[in-house]
Amino acid sequence: MAANIIDGKAFAATVREKVAGHVARLKEEHGITPGLAVVLVGEDPASQVYVRSKGKQTVEVGMNSYEHKLDAATSEADLLAVVDQLNNDPNVHGILVQLPLPGHLNEDLIINSIAPEKDVDGFHISNVGLLGTGQKSMVPCTPLGCLMMLRDYHGSLSGMDAVVIGRSNIVGKPMAQLLLGDSCTVTIAHSRTKDLPEVVRRADIVVAAVGRPEMVPGDWIKEGATVIDVGINRIERDGKNKLVGDVDFASCAERAGAITPVPGGVGPMTIACLLANTVTACCRANGLAEPEGLTA
Ligand code: NDP
Repeated sequence: MAANIIDGKAFAATVREKVAGHVARLKEEHGITPGLAVVLVGEDPASQVYVRSKGKQTVEVGMNSYEHKLDAATSEADLLAVVDQLNNDPNVHGILVQLPLPGHLNEDLIINSIAPEKDVDGFHISNVGLLGTGQKSMVPCTPLGCLMMLRDYHGSLSGMDAVVIGRSNIVGKPMAQLLLGDSCTVTIAHSRTKDLPEVVRRADIVVAAVGRPEMVPGDWIKEGATVIDVGINRIERDGKNKLVGDVDFASCAERAGAITPVPGGVGPMTIACLLANTVTACCRANGLAEPEGLTA
């Protein structure tokens, strides 16, 4: 069986269109322009690329983008002061501090200094707690993007067996919470899981967020299962640089019912969901109705 390809690039474009439509209405009917502030500390090349891309897409959907580029040697006190200023700026509805931060800065402390209602990455401890208890929260962008694609493909996820491989705070754990919220029976697997192949073979939905190139082979996949590949791994093959996921796409696509490719699957959905979270945060801040279908 050849799997259906879940086209994250096309889906992300529809999410951005919805966001842009809502931004236009906010401007027209309420005179409000949602604003996203991104704080980058240091010169990490990958982070610089992400921040540029986020800024560009923010402006493309009609929102204001505020970039704060700080020196790698910025002190914790100075960074906290920038976050505090953004927390108190009524034109800023979303704040994202680009991770990883330089080693001398305490990431937990910085993230938890962001006002929870402006924490569009969904990493603040209050948002983690709200998500864990099934309350309205800011939902981390990558798992939110995965959930949107799963809901779009399946409609209801109720009763499905889901296996999330990876238990990180930014992907694995929130992904499991979201699937549980949609009434899946959820297993979280990790590096100490016994007999991972057997665990994965039970799954109707497999979300791989491991960070190991092509770790999941096709014979771990139940016939007809849906495979969401979060991994982004740069490898060299046949003398060329290549981007691959955490699943072996060719063999998994032979058994899966549907699968996301890398690139062009989960990746594009992450920034689209950041924009969605910003417009949601703006609506909540102003006591306005939230856009439909852009949150969990
Ligand atoms: P982490 O390194 O934080 O977590 C990886 C998880 O995988 C850990 O829980 C680890 O288990 C588990 N793991 C490692 N090796 C194995 C193994 N052999 N068998 C089973 N589990 C294993 O990674 P992230 O969650 O941050 O990211 C995962 C992947 O997703 C990466 O490739 C990253 O680049 C990508 N990513 C993609 C995004 C996107 O926008 N598409 C956004 C964020 C991440 P343990 O806890 O036991 O160590």
